[in-house]
Amino acid sequence: MAYRFDSFYIGGAWVKPSTTDVLTLENPATRAPFATVPDATPADAVAAIEAAASALPAWSATPLAKRVELMQKALEIFKTYRDEIIRLEALELGAPVSYSANAHCDYQFTRIESYIRESQKVVLEEQFEQSTVVREPVGVIACITPWNYPLGQVVQKIIPALLMGNTVVLKPSQHTPLTAYLLVDSLDRAGFPAGTVNLITGRGSKLGDTLATHPLVDMISFTGSTAVGIKLSQKALEGVKRISLELGGKSPFIWLPSEDYEAAINQLFGSVFYNSGQTCTALTRLLVPESDLEKVKALLLRRIPQLVVGDPMDPKTNIGPMASKAQYDKVLSYIELGQSEGAELLCGGRAPEAGKGYFIKPTVFVNVTNSMRIAREEIFGPVLCVITYKTVDEAVDIANDTPYGLNAAVFGERELALSVAKRIKAGNVYVNGGPRDVTAPFGGYKQSGIGREGGRYGLMEFTQLKATFDR
Ligand code: NAD
Repeated sequence: MAYRFDSFYIGGAWVKPSTTDVLTLENPATRAPFATVPDATPADAVAAIEAAASALPAWSATPLAKRVELMQKALEIFKTYRDEIIRLEALELGAPVSYSANAHCDYQFTRIESYIRESQKVVLEEQFEQSTVVREPVGVIACITPWNYPLGQVVQKIIPALLMGNTVVLKPSQHTPLTAYLLVDSLDRAGFPAGTVNLITGRGSKLGDTLATHPLVDMISFTGSTAVGIKLSQKALEGVKRISLELGGKSPFIWLPSEDYEAAINQLFGSVFYNSGQTCTALTRLLVPESDLEKVKALLLRRIPQLVVGDPMDPKTNIGPMASKAQYDKVLSYIELGQSEGAELLCGGRAPEAGKGYFIKPTVFVNVTNSMRIAREEIFGPVLCVITYKTVDEAVDIANDTPYGLNAAVFGERELALSVAKRIKAGNVYVNGGPRDVTAPFGGYKQSGIGREGGRYGLMEFTQLKATFDR
């Protein structure tokens, strides 16, 4: 193990930061500080960008087969970090080990495997009527990621970017940067050439302008809040840089009239309560037929107490704490807001474990209207808003009445559910709990983003087209 959390990875080596300033990470389940990482300065960002730019000519000319070979080797090394990944996500994010093992760990291995396979299916050269069109790397990519799926968001960017021949400067969230070290260490040990991947940690507010405006950066790949995404893009567009944005959501789950809603409950809970609701795709607006409201309330009140809220290290725990005090305070303030807006709190709120950490119980509001702020704004906590509809047309209108368009789900009779899915304005729609396909494109309509991640479309996001005309 070569990495240390007090260093950056720049130009193929673990190096000392330009500063002794650090950021302290707090375990959200206990409120105990447990690690520090450097708080990079713009000078560190510039060093990382220059290293990435130096490595670009050779890496972009490296055949795909060689890049794939290195990535396979890195994945094998990375898999040996499995226990450490799960432990660190419990510490930095508060993610329960039972949830983390798949969502924050094994699924990320699956994603890397998928990118390796799919990269070999990307059409890199095509003959048109009188030209040859090739896909080339974009260049130096600045990757900025959020805290809620610390590894997942990093994997979605740096793996396809590297496979497609780009070089990378990665700045993970300052709140959950630790597992990024393990991935970068695996790339280093696999033999990725110096400068192809570079890692700095610190605050986006301090580093964002440098990453977005430096002339050697060709593209910003950002996942995070819509507000920061807009600000960052405005800066990046001053230099006409490519931008890709994965932003927020307020996703609807339409329950079509049914005798029994039990079959939809696991999908609902998995989406809105697991990861403490800190999921961009969370199905936080549950749309149910007005005539079935009492039935749905009874179902929720029967099933929610079965969810175990508590210590993330305990394998029986389903829901851990909120990731930070800031997030905890924000979610509690939305719970207060919902009550003051006139919604009825069916269950939830501050959990008894709150004395120890930032725990909030699965929370449900009923009698919510879609114009309330709790139904329009991204709360990013385990808070479900139940909204009633009279007709299926009205349900579709309510589902689409949001500035976002990241995700949606429909449950009900198959033909009707598929016809409703077609009318939803979102980048992903799940019908009757269909499983996610790792090769499918992921991304948002409207204010949920620009561009796609995942599979071949996610790989092509990090390419640009060149047409050649000859005699
Ligand atoms: P955030 O926007 O506060 O921060 C995201 C990243 O941007 C962090 O690395 C942060 O340091 C950096 N940053 C902050 N200010 C910056 C600035 N001025 N310039 C450049 N970078 C800056 O978001 P967050 O709180 O970390 O994450 C939660 C948000 O992420 C939610 O809105 C969620 O919906 C969204 N998200 C979206 C997806 C998706 O795929 N669509 C996935 C996960 C999270």
